[in-house]
Amino acid sequence: MSTLLQQTSRGFYCPQGDFYVDPHRPVGRAVITHAHTDHARWGSRLYLAARSSEHLLRMRMSPDAEFQFANYGETISIGGVKVSFHPAGHILGSAQVRLEYHGRIEVVTGDYKLGSDATCESWQPLRCHLLVTESTFGLPVYRWPEQNSVFDSINQWWRENQSQDQCSILYGYAVGKSQRIIAGLDPSIGPIFCHGAVEKGNEAYRQTGVALPPTIHTSNTEKSQRWAGAMIIAVPSAHGTPWIKRFGKISTAMASGWMAIRGSRRQRSFDRGFILSDHVDWPSLLESVDACDPETVWVTHGYSAVVARFLREGGRDAISLDRWQRPDTEEEDSRTDKNSEEKSE
Ligand SMILES: [Zn+2]
Ligand SMILES: [Zn+2]
Repeated sequence: MSTLLQQTSRGFYCPQGDFYVDPHRPVGRAVITHAHTDHARWGSRLYLAARSSEHLLRMRMSPDAEFQFANYGETISIGGVKVSFHPAGHILGSAQVRLEYHGRIEVVTGDYKLGSDATCESWQPLRCHLLVTESTFGLPVYRWPEQNSVFDSINQWWRENQSQDQCSILYGYAVGKSQRIIAGLDPSIGPIFCHGAVEKGNEAYRQTGVALPPTIHTSNTEKSQRWAGAMIIAVPSAHGTPWIKRFGKISTAMASGWMAIRGSRRQRSFDRGFILSDHVDWPSLLESVDACDPETVWVTHGYSAVVARFLREGGRDAISLDRWQRPDTEEEDSRTDKNSEEKSE
């Protein structure tokens, strides 16, 4: 039997159901893994996504976009193809898309990570014939530290800055990373302020029922606001711009998987780097493939050639698909952070 998914220049296409998964260009029917802009793009006629991504998707897409939402595990039949969403553990509402047709099962992971995250449901393995996995951090050098130790270091850094009358500025992507950081902060240390794009993301999380410590939009403050000792969560694109001048004496840090590479250009431009990623690292990528135990693996979205070769050497049928993908160097499209910044600041 041929595959249910085909690679096309618009993204993954399922001819039996006439729909695309995370298409790169506008299509009739788009099945969406999650609300990051490199997966949920504007212009399609109809979007189908997991219910818990609703507030984030509506925040990011055009108001007249048409949506259909399904709960995790709920099956929707499209042209005889059973389509369902299952937690991917990446950000709020992120889903693996599972397709089943005449007994054949194929799964697109979208972006995903293993382990717990207070702001979204945990990834679950899905047995399948074909697994399409991302590989953003698919190199052996990427191994994430335990998240609680990362949150401890962040809170410790905040206390140290506070004792020196400094304001802490911690950069993370507006949707997903920032809310995960905020959920890990100790609000007893001091007030938490957020850049407009982050605060918008916080609202969508709270509307979906995710509990976050209290946060204040940086613009909702008096001119006399004292910033020393405060924590500010901002988008990376605000780094080095006039926006941060108002905060006086500052210490800056970035929270990202990329911080695992010491001395990298990304790491050097901040006072501190915290290794916190919402993607699978090398060991958990291999663990997830074993747990899903597919006949075939398609590797995309990152270090796909390295991962595919490693899997083949371990006896699996695996290929890299990245000739169809644009190379991604960021966890999400940073241009969008700039756009939402303009709108909300
Ligand atoms: Zn993502
Ligand atoms: Zn992505």
